[in-house]
Amino acid sequence: MNALKRMLCIVAALAILALSAAAAEEIAAESPYMQVAIEEALEGISNGDGGPFGSAIVKDGVIVGQGHNRVLKDNDPTCHGEVAAIRDACANLGTYDLSGCVIYTTGEPCPMCLFACKWANLETVYYGCTIDDNALIGFRDEEFDALAGGREQLADYLVCVDRDACLELFQRYSDMTHVLY
Ligand SMILES: [Zn+2]
Repeated sequence: MNALKRMLCIVAALAILALSAAAAEEIAAESPYMQVAIEEALEGISNGDGGPFGSAIVKDGVIVGQGHNRVLKDNDPTCHGEVAAIRDACANLGTYDLSGCVIYTTGEPCPMCLFACKWANLETVYYGCTIDDNALIGFRDEEFDALAGGREQLADYLVCVDRDACLELFQRYSDMTHVLY
Protein backbone atom coordinates (compact mmCIF):
# COMPACT_ATOMS: atom_id res chain seq x y z
CA MET A 1 0.00 0.00 0.00
CA ASN A 2 2.80 2.40 0.91
CA ALA A 3 4.54 1.59 -2.34
CA LEU A 4 1.31 2.28 -4.25
CA LYS A 5 0.85 5.59 -2.44
CA ARG A 6 4.45 6.52 -3.22
CA MET A 7 3.93 5.67 -6.87
CA LEU A 8 0.73 7.76 -7.00
CA CYS A 9 2.63 10.67 -5.45
CA ILE A 10 5.33 10.37 -8.11
CA VAL A 11 2.73 10.25 -10.89
CA ALA A 12 0.98 13.32 -9.44
CA ALA A 13 4.28 15.19 -9.13
CA LEU A 14 5.17 14.37 -12.74
CA ALA A 15 1.76 15.57 -13.92
CA ILE A 16 2.23 18.88 -12.05
CA LEU A 17 5.69 19.26 -13.58
CA ALA A 18 4.33 18.60 -17.08
CA LEU A 19 1.51 21.13 -16.56
CA SER A 20 3.83 23.85 -15.30
CA ALA A 21 6.23 23.18 -18.20
CA ALA A 22 3.34 23.67 -20.66
CA ALA A 23 2.27 26.90 -18.95
CA ALA A 24 5.85 28.17 -18.98
CA GLU A 25 6.22 27.49 -22.70
CA GLU A 26 6.36 31.11 -23.71
CA ILE A 27 6.24 32.76 -27.07
CA ALA A 28 9.49 34.68 -27.37
CA ALA A 29 9.58 37.88 -29.42
CA GLU A 30 12.83 39.66 -30.27
CA SER A 31 11.39 43.05 -29.35
CA PRO A 32 10.63 43.44 -25.63
CA TYR A 33 7.72 45.74 -26.60
CA MET A 34 6.22 43.14 -28.94
CA GLN A 35 6.68 40.66 -26.10
CA VAL A 36 4.35 42.78 -23.94
CA ALA A 37 1.86 43.04 -26.82
CA ILE A 38 1.91 39.23 -27.20
CA GLU A 39 1.42 38.73 -23.46
CA GLU A 40 -1.56 41.12 -23.57
CA ALA A 41 -3.01 39.05 -26.43
CA LEU A 42 -2.41 35.78 -24.57
CA GLU A 43 -4.20 37.15 -21.50
CA GLY A 44 -7.10 38.24 -23.72
CA ILE A 45 -7.55 34.90 -25.47
CA SER A 46 -7.19 32.89 -22.28
CA ASN A 47 -9.94 35.03 -20.68
CA GLY A 48 -12.13 34.79 -23.81
CA ASP A 49 -12.09 38.60 -24.14
CA GLY A 50 -11.67 38.59 -27.93
CA GLY A 51 -9.19 37.86 -30.73
CA PRO A 52 -5.41 37.39 -30.41
CA PHE A 53 -4.62 41.08 -30.64
CA GLY A 54 -2.56 42.91 -28.04
CA SER A 55 -0.77 46.24 -28.24
CA ALA A 56 1.82 48.27 -26.35
CA ILE A 57 2.55 51.98 -26.77
CA VAL A 58 6.11 53.14 -26.19
CA LYS A 59 7.51 56.60 -25.49
CA ASP A 60 11.26 57.15 -25.08
CA GLY A 61 11.77 53.42 -24.61
CA VAL A 62 9.15 53.14 -21.85
CA ILE A 63 5.76 51.44 -22.18
CA VAL A 64 3.12 54.10 -21.45
CA GLY A 65 0.01 52.11 -22.35
CA GLN A 66 -1.10 48.62 -23.26
CA GLY A 67 -4.26 46.68 -23.97
CA HIS A 68 -5.89 43.82 -25.81
CA ASN A 69 -8.96 43.10 -27.89
CA ARG A 70 -12.06 43.09 -25.65
CA VAL A 71 -14.78 42.98 -28.31
CA LEU A 72 -16.49 39.90 -26.83
CA LYS A 73 -16.02 40.79 -23.18
CA ASP A 74 -17.30 44.37 -23.51
CA ASN A 75 -19.72 43.76 -26.41
CA ASP A 76 -17.82 46.58 -28.08
CA PRO A 77 -16.90 46.05 -31.74
CA THR A 78 -14.52 49.02 -31.57
CA CYS A 79 -12.45 47.72 -28.67
CA HIS A 80 -9.56 46.35 -30.70
CA GLY A 81 -6.11 46.00 -29.09
CA GLU A 82 -4.77 49.20 -30.62
CA VAL A 83 -7.79 51.23 -29.45
CA ALA A 84 -7.53 49.74 -25.93
CA ALA A 85 -3.81 50.65 -25.80
CA ILE A 86 -4.42 54.18 -27.13
CA ARG A 87 -7.10 54.75 -24.46
CA ASP A 88 -4.74 53.43 -21.77
CA ALA A 89 -1.77 55.53 -22.90
CA CYS A 90 -3.90 58.69 -23.18
CA ALA A 91 -5.33 58.13 -19.69
CA ASN A 92 -1.87 57.44 -18.24
CA LEU A 93 -0.26 60.47 -19.88
CA GLY A 94 -3.29 62.77 -19.45
CA THR A 95 -3.38 63.72 -23.13
CA TYR A 96 -5.16 62.96 -26.41
CA ASP A 97 -1.95 63.54 -28.36
CA LEU A 98 0.49 60.63 -28.51
CA SER A 99 3.10 62.44 -30.61
CA GLY A 100 6.53 60.96 -29.90
CA CYS A 101 5.03 57.53 -29.21
CA VAL A 102 5.05 54.36 -31.32
CA ILE A 103 2.80 51.30 -31.10
CA TYR A 104 3.63 47.59 -31.18
CA THR A 105 0.71 45.39 -32.12
CA THR A 106 0.40 41.65 -32.76
CA GLY A 107 -1.57 42.01 -36.01
CA GLU A 108 -1.40 44.58 -38.80
CA PRO A 109 -4.08 47.16 -37.86
CA CYS A 110 -7.52 47.10 -39.46
CA PRO A 111 -8.54 50.38 -41.17
CA MET A 112 -10.30 51.63 -38.00
CA CYS A 113 -7.19 51.13 -35.86
CA LEU A 114 -4.83 52.36 -38.53
CA PHE A 115 -6.67 55.68 -38.60
CA ALA A 116 -7.05 55.73 -34.81
CA CYS A 117 -3.23 55.52 -34.70
CA LYS A 118 -3.06 58.46 -37.11
CA TRP A 119 -5.63 60.44 -35.07
CA ALA A 120 -3.54 59.79 -31.94
CA ASN A 121 -0.40 61.03 -33.79
CA LEU A 122 1.46 57.77 -33.15
CA GLU A 123 4.68 57.97 -35.16
CA THR A 124 5.10 54.39 -36.35
CA VAL A 125 3.09 51.17 -36.20
CA TYR A 126 5.16 48.03 -35.60
CA TYR A 127 2.98 45.00 -36.34
CA GLY A 128 3.64 41.25 -36.17
CA CYS A 129 1.20 39.32 -38.36
CA THR A 130 0.09 40.77 -41.68
CA ILE A 131 -3.45 41.57 -42.88
CA ASP A 132 -3.30 38.30 -44.85
CA ASP A 133 -2.38 36.42 -41.66
CA ASN A 134 -5.41 38.01 -39.92
CA ALA A 135 -7.60 36.60 -42.71
CA LEU A 136 -6.10 33.13 -42.25
CA ILE A 137 -7.52 32.97 -38.71
CA GLY A 138 -10.91 34.24 -39.88
CA PHE A 139 -10.83 38.01 -39.41
CA ARG A 140 -12.43 40.32 -42.00
CA ASP A 141 -9.82 43.07 -42.24
CA GLU A 142 -9.46 42.65 -46.00
CA GLU A 143 -13.18 43.30 -46.55
CA PHE A 144 -12.92 46.70 -44.84
CA ASP A 145 -9.53 47.38 -46.37
CA ALA A 146 -11.11 47.06 -49.81
CA LEU A 147 -13.69 49.70 -48.80
CA ALA A 148 -11.11 52.10 -47.39
CA GLY A 149 -8.43 51.42 -50.00
CA GLY A 150 -4.97 52.90 -50.20
CA ARG A 151 -3.12 51.10 -47.40
CA GLU A 152 -0.11 51.09 -49.75
CA GLN A 153 0.11 54.87 -49.29
CA LEU A 154 0.95 54.25 -45.63
CA ALA A 155 3.73 51.77 -46.39
CA ASP A 156 6.35 53.84 -44.54
CA TYR A 157 4.08 54.11 -41.50
CA LEU A 158 3.70 50.34 -41.10
CA VAL A 159 6.71 48.21 -40.15
CA CYS A 160 6.57 44.42 -39.77
CA VAL A 161 8.54 42.97 -36.81
CA ASP A 162 8.44 39.65 -34.91
CA ARG A 163 6.04 38.02 -37.39
CA ASP A 164 7.17 34.50 -36.40
CA ALA A 165 6.40 35.03 -32.70
CA CYS A 166 3.02 36.57 -33.58
CA LEU A 167 2.22 33.70 -35.96
CA GLU A 168 2.85 31.35 -33.02
CA LEU A 169 0.30 33.38 -31.05
CA PHE A 170 -2.20 33.13 -33.94
CA GLN A 171 -1.60 29.38 -34.12
CA ARG A 172 -2.32 29.04 -30.41
CA TYR A 173 -5.57 30.96 -30.94
CA SER A 174 -6.50 28.79 -33.93
CA ASP A 175 -6.04 25.68 -31.81
CA MET A 176 -8.50 26.97 -29.20
CA THR A 177 -12.29 26.93 -29.49
CA HIS A 178 -13.29 30.51 -30.04
CA VAL A 179 -16.08 32.75 -31.27
CA LEU A 180 -15.47 34.48 -34.59
CA TYR A 181 -16.80 37.97 -35.12
ZN1 LIG B 1 -8.61 47.19 -35.39
